[in-house]
Amino acid sequence: MLLADVALPVPVRRAFTYSVPDAMVARVVAGARVVCPFQARRLIGVVLSVRDGALPKGVRALAGAVDEEPAVPEDLLAFLRDLATYYFAPVGEVMRLALPPLERTTARELVEPNLFDDAHGLGDRSVQWIEATSTDGSSPARPGPQGDPASGEAALRGQAAAILAHVRAAGAQPVAKLEPRWGAVRAAAKRLAALGLVVLEKRQAPSDPFFAEPAVRDAPHEPTPSQTSAIEAIETAIGDGRGATFLLHGVTGSGKTEVYLRAIAAVRARDRGAIVLVPEIALTPQLVARFRARFGDEVAVLHSALTARERFAMWRKLRVGEVQVAIGARSALFAPVRALGLLIVDEEHDASFKQEEGVRYHARDMAIWRAHRASAVCVLGSATPSLESEHLARTGRAIRLRLPERARAQPLPRVEVVDLKRTGAGPTGDPRISMPLHRAIEDALRAHEQVILFLNRRGFAPSLRCEACGEIASCGACSVALTFHKRAAVVRCHYCDYEAPLLLRCAVCGAEALMLEGIGTEKLEDTLTAAFPQARVARLDRDVASGKKIEAVLARVRAREVDILVGTQMVAKGHDLPSVTLVGVVNADAALSIPDFRAAERAFQLLVQVAGRAGRGDVPGRVLIQTYNPRHPAIVLAAGHDVDSFLDRELADRRELEYPPLTRAALVRVDAVDEAVARAACTELGDAARACEEVRRGGVVVQGPAPAPIARVRARWRFRLMLRAMERTPLRSVLAAVEQARGSLARGVRASIDVDPVQLL
Ligand code: ADP
Ligand code: ZN
Repeated sequence: MLLADVALPVPVRRAFTYSVPDAMVARVVAGARVVCPFQARRLIGVVLSVRDGALPKGVRALAGAVDEEPAVPEDLLAFLRDLATYYFAPVGEVMRLALPPLERTTARELVEPNLFDDAHGLGDRSVQWIEATSTDGSSPARPGPQGDPASGEAALRGQAAAILAHVRAAGAQPVAKLEPRWGAVRAAAKRLAALGLVVLEKRQAPSDPFFAEPAVRDAPHEPTPSQTSAIEAIETAIGDGRGATFLLHGVTGSGKTEVYLRAIAAVRARDRGAIVLVPEIALTPQLVARFRARFGDEVAVLHSALTARERFAMWRKLRVGEVQVAIGARSALFAPVRALGLLIVDEEHDASFKQEEGVRYHARDMAIWRAHRASAVCVLGSATPSLESEHLARTGRAIRLRLPERARAQPLPRVEVVDLKRTGAGPTGDPRISMPLHRAIEDALRAHEQVILFLNRRGFAPSLRCEACGEIASCGACSVALTFHKRAAVVRCHYCDYEAPLLLRCAVCGAEALMLEGIGTEKLEDTLTAAFPQARVARLDRDVASGKKIEAVLARVRAREVDILVGTQMVAKGHDLPSVTLVGVVNADAALSIPDFRAAERAFQLLVQVAGRAGRGDVPGRVLIQTYNPRHPAIVLAAGHDVDSFLDRELADRRELEYPPLTRAALVRVDAVDEAVARAACTELGDAARACEEVRRGGVVVQGPAPAPIARVRARWRFRLMLRAMERTPLRSVLAAVEQARGSLARGVRASIDVDPVQLL
């Protein structure tokens, strides 16, 4: 009997076995999607493997096969299986990461066009148009098979005649436009086409913002000497086909993009494909434009503004090898690129590469892995490498390539640290716009240059404090302060999105004495608008909204329609804005005070990155960092652009404290509605871990149960265990024991394992 092991989209780690009916044998192969009876439902699963065996009791037969050719190619399938194992994640949920978007559906809803057949018009953005042939036969000069346009016209009646008259009068139009008036028109349209009276043809319907403009091909830059050596090293590795990992460590503005572009050209010349991962596609329209300018429509841009159908179309083009370069945020890691030869992770230090829900994978780490398995080259690019990548470079597992200078030899900006303890407020009276910052903004505006101000708090006021009892108003469901948003006129919880009209009365003592406290980007925007009435101020943060709106703000900045851009870390990403000469960091301390062993690393990266936005054009840049901790090493070293010293120091600290990347870590997260239940469940898992030989002999250290720094979110109490070890193997066996124990926790308790955790709050 032929048996198939199938990954189903259910939160269970194992695969499910089904028997394969004879009629389906040819199509049920590894990587193919199949329809599986599951309890009373039918689910779409992915075949992991097929084998001969005796029919076990209770095994059901597959109900259908979806694919002519497997949706998940073999190399990707093997990679996904390893990823599931590494992260202790349900294999069916991991498979879903790689499936075409139309497939995230149940079998009953399935309307499945054949993936390899473009008859449904999904593969491109074209729609069918109808246009009358002219009666004198001159244009469009494409008569139907019957030749003479006039021959059958006399016989036309009803719908067909009416449509012909309409099209002759109204001109060419999409067939779909006729449908509201005439209903189903396709048969009539086909008849007219067969008579040579109309022409039906597919025409492109661009709607994707990244494709709205045809790509203007650009000429490559003449590489600088350090770009040349980086490119040569990567090209050599691509040429020898054995795979390698590079850390492209280039200062801000050093021209890393040009290196990526050349590397892609090198793999394309060998007919292999490439994937480029970027932190957030809406924040990188410029980068995408550069890829499109160099490679035109050979690039599939995967971004969240695409509809499911559009994403499917992109997926299909990649799967059949019509397009071999994909660019996108972390999930583009799973793009079914044919003959993958290159994986690029731009801004590899960015925390967005870690998925923090569902399957908690790290796209940077997995990019190295996927590249390795495919004997492909992996390039990690950053001006501020993560400690993880730095460690790889220092231990010889990644090859460091340096771009020590800016591409057009511009100096790095001069950075001044403003000690807020000793420096007073400027003319606005707001202590957060110190006199030096105020003067610097004035100077930049006078010179018609642009300013970026960075503040890592969105909203108007980050908290409301009761003047009577001193309590801070917090979310009812989360142990988090409510933020006042003035534009929306609400208080909002940034963890659960709870929202309410502005509170007046303190929930604890009942006094009507709540006062706004602190400053967020909204208030900063207002303050600046008042202080510099001649300046055009714009804001960039999560509240400005998503996708297209973000791009619109950036486009206005690029077009010089904005003088001061205020924003959260969104303003620190890779923007290349040559007219920005001043960058101000309103408060560097917020990032340093987060209870996380990576707080200093994050703060340092943020400061260097945001500083790197200044002075990329012809005028030298200037950066002001406001802080109450002017001697904090992360601030002092960021001010000196001294990335190497920071990395030295931070690596030494991590070694001493036994934190990653010098050790391996995993976080076990437990939450429940009841605090005692959550704590008890976490204790149970902790006991299971401590019962392991590896823990008793000291090879694995278990800390906890401890309440999470944010103890309650969405009305659930959160506890966790931190596990650390020098070696991966003993840590994995302890995690396996935890995973085992997870199965017997009380109902209503959620527990998950986070391997190589990033977010610790
Ligand atoms: P990074 O990503 O390293 O911060 P970018 O790739 O954005 O830097 O490049 C910074 C600027 O330098 C861009 O405007 C780019 O067009 C320009 N540039 C890159 N390489 C060269 C070169 N070889 N010659 C001249 N300009 C270059
Ligand atoms: Zn909340």
